[in-house]
Amino acid sequence: MHTEFDVIIVGGGMVGLSLAQALSGTKLKLLLVEAGSLESNSIAGASGFEPRVSAINLKSQQWLSAIGVWDHLPKDRIQAFTRMEAWDAEGTGEVSFESRQVGQAALGYIVENCVIQDALMTALSQSSIHIMRHTRLQSATPLTDTPSPNGAHHITFEDGTTTTCNLLIGADGHQSRVRQLGGFKTRQWDYQHQAIVTTITLTEPHNNTARQAFATDGPLGILPLPGQDQRHCSIVWSQKSDRTAALMALSDTEFCVQLTRAMDNRLGTVVDVDRRFAIPLQAQIAESLVCAGMALIGDAAHRIHPLAGQGANLGFADAEALADNIIATTSKGLAIGDHFQLRQYQRQRQSHNLAMTAAMEGFKRLFESDNIAVRWLRNAGMKQFEDFGGLKSAVMAVAMGLQSPLNGVHKKRG
Ligand SMILES: Cc1cc2nc3c(=O)[nH]c(=O)nc-3n(C[C@H](O)[C@H](O)[C@H](O)COP(=O)(O)OP(=O)(O)OC[C@H]3O[C@@H](n4cnc5c(N)ncnc54)[C@H](O)[C@@H]3O)c2cc1C
Repeated sequence: MHTEFDVIIVGGGMVGLSLAQALSGTKLKLLLVEAGSLESNSIAGASGFEPRVSAINLKSQQWLSAIGVWDHLPKDRIQAFTRMEAWDAEGTGEVSFESRQVGQAALGYIVENCVIQDALMTALSQSSIHIMRHTRLQSATPLTDTPSPNGAHHITFEDGTTTTCNLLIGADGHQSRVRQLGGFKTRQWDYQHQAIVTTITLTEPHNNTARQAFATDGPLGILPLPGQDQRHCSIVWSQKSDRTAALMALSDTEFCVQLTRAMDNRLGTVVDVDRRFAIPLQAQIAESLVCAGMALIGDAAHRIHPLAGQGANLGFADAEALADNIIATTSKGLAIGDHFQLRQYQRQRQSHNLAMTAAMEGFKRLFESDNIAVRWLRNAGMKQFEDFGGLKSAVMAVAMGLQSPLNGVHKKRG
């Protein structure tokens, strides 16, 4: 069916932009629509770092390389981590992972979200993709009166502009309008946690190590940031909501004292902290990812606890799978909005996303229990795990995105 655009991507976050970039080399007519400005309005604190960063796993790094973006990230804004440490803050259990144990130069990379976003925008500005800023999707109605599996849609934006497309992609985050318009059912629950995110300055170097302390109140992630002196880290401190409010109300000095304690003094003393932000944490997962003429990717499809830093990584893997699906469908001369074709994308991604959501829920519950038997079990379990090389390698491969939690090894691009 003739439409003005082949594909409309709603949402210019990291995930939507990466899909746009992956499709920008094709002959498809593409439109990207973003409610915001697509410019990074810096809210960096005194440390010079933006508060929102992501731990990018090796699979995502390979994908960003394959679409021509990774090599354009400024090198001085990327911090490789070669070691990970996780410990039970209420006990003695501890596990560690080293990149050399799996023959890799790094386990992953910490990058500020805006740095990835800017690199994606720079790449896209050199393509022929149409971009509409400050525009919100309002409605999508099928172009034909009789339901068609090809799913072409008539699209209306909030400013009254209209257009048509064969495939509408929801990359519009956890409150996705596309998901709502497509009638996608979701399961959601409140973690009753909020995450405090900020940048801290330490007296000891981070030694290229990402750390995670598990306490019954909630996990504390300490992510190394770039810089010669290695004294800056980004933190994601997930806490029950009342405790978050108390921590947010502390003076900077008192907050640094509490944080130093929560970190078991592992990096010396926390001597400075940027402005703190508290983000409510919810889990949400769409029961399906596609219908005729529509598909969901990224947080529009799933939102998980940030304790293992996997949300954006799952989103990039969605974008990669959907790009491959669209390119394969086009090369066969088939309709890209066809429900049957899109279901192959869903089959590829849904079980993986569900498994990761379930794993995050399990971790959260295991570590928030102060039941003495559960505490013994998790400390003993961590000790066994540390000594069990095979299982450890398998868990590392999942965290790096090189293996599915369902045990299927992901194919490497290129
Ligand atoms: C504290 C915290 C720490 C995290 N740490 C990590 C980590 O270390 N590693 C990791 O992999 N993940 C991490 N995550 C998860 C990660 O940040 C998200 O999964 C990721 O940013 C989602 O990207 P997205 O592009 O799907 O959605 P978003 O970033 O939400 O982008 C959606 C875009 O859609 C636009 N939009 C919304 N509605 C409309 C509309 N109607 N019309 C047009 N545009 C619209 C919005 O303006 C926005 O730009 C973390 C999350 C949190 C909360």
